[in-house]
Amino acid sequence: MKIAIMGAGLSGLTCALTLEKYGYQAEIYEKRGMVGDRFIVAEAMLSMFYHPYDDAVKYISEAHGIHLKPTNSVNKVFIHSEHESAHIEGQLGFINMRGKHSESFEKQLANQLKSKIHFQQNVTHEDLSKAYTHVVLATGDPMDTEQLQPYEEAFKASFKGAIVEGDFNRTDVHTFFNNKLAPKGMAYLLPHSEREASFVLVYPQYPENEGVDKEQLWNACLAEYCKRLNQDLRVRETFSIKDYRAGKTENARIGNTFFVGNCWGAISPLFGFGQFESMLTGIYAAHDIAGVGDYNELVQDLYQSYHDSLTLRRAIETLDNKQLDLLTKSVKVKWVEGLITNKHMNVLKLLSRVIHPFVRSTEK
Ligand SMILES: Cc1cc2nc3c(=O)[nH]c(=O)nc-3n(C[C@H](O)[C@H](O)[C@H](O)COP(=O)(O)OP(=O)(O)OC[C@H]3O[C@@H](n4cnc5c(N)ncnc54)[C@H](O)[C@@H]3O)c2cc1C
Repeated sequence: MKIAIMGAGLSGLTCALTLEKYGYQAEIYEKRGMVGDRFIVAEAMLSMFYHPYDDAVKYISEAHGIHLKPTNSVNKVFIHSEHESAHIEGQLGFINMRGKHSESFEKQLANQLKSKIHFQQNVTHEDLSKAYTHVVLATGDPMDTEQLQPYEEAFKASFKGAIVEGDFNRTDVHTFFNNKLAPKGMAYLLPHSEREASFVLVYPQYPENEGVDKEQLWNACLAEYCKRLNQDLRVRETFSIKDYRAGKTENARIGNTFFVGNCWGAISPLFGFGQFESMLTGIYAAHDIAGVGDYNELVQDLYQSYHDSLTLRRAIETLDNKQLDLLTKSVKVKWVEGLITNKHMNVLKLLSRVIHPFVRSTEK
């Protein structure tokens, strides 16, 4: 068997690491000059979205022998709407670094790898499928998927983010839901340390958002955050992304080509989480190639949570600022907080089942 992996990101690297455990060495082709060759940003993995895995890092380590060290635990998630603030507490998940940061998840994965990574290789699926028996498409870019099969897009998103300096509690995450500042989207703050954090604004590029001025929104979001938390933040490094796609493919596998990570549909449409899902698809594809699982079957639960997540997003998008205030206020009610943080319950599934009859369609 000759296996090629296109892309040395989360899904490609977890796939290669899992293949090694079964005695296979893949050849990895990465278009950039090194692993994680992009802006530094903090990302989060929150357990409430990963039922039945209440600790994603522990699960990947114990069940799959892939060891990751997050930067911080998340013990409090604050939810801020226009006029309300609430928070939930508990062992809620983790914050980890991405990109050029020395401890980014992709660098940690690459450090555990024996297989060869060929850098600065602008290969195509067509080239690889001629030379290899199995190809894993892990470029993080659904445009590559679309060359081979239909990709059903849920939305495109626009991001503006920065590393900010200030005083932070490193286990506190702040989220902001305010249609005036992040129309149908959100802003969030994820600390890297007591002094440094990522502050990110993200919103879907729906036609009604076409006229919005991203820079103006970003400045207003930052000003609002400074006011809410009573401090001035110093902005250090900024990044901006347009046309980041959330959606999914029909087929996880076609012939001996495996679609993993964002090339499959790993982005959970509700809040854009995709790291855990990407790593799982990489692991599952490796199981299929090694003959210990069926990739199409293994991703079925992930398809279901994608749909649940999209249903919830469509419901939340219908809320105006007054309703977002009410929703935020409801989190202060003990039993609601208890429901959200209940590790024995699939909150995503439950809420989407309750809401589904009220959402006309999960398609936009
Ligand atoms: C700003 C931002 C914030 C996010 N925050 C969160 C978060 O808080 N929590 C969360 O769970 N998820 C988050 N996500 C989503 C998460 O980062 C992705 O779901 C995940 O990284 C996807 O993994 P992947 O393996 O598909 O792609 P990636 O990890 O992006 O890896 C793709 C790799 O393929 C390489 N490549 C691209 N094209 C080619 C080519 N033609 N040939 C060879 N190599 C190629 C790229 O250089 C890259 O190294 C965020 C995404 C963004 C953009």
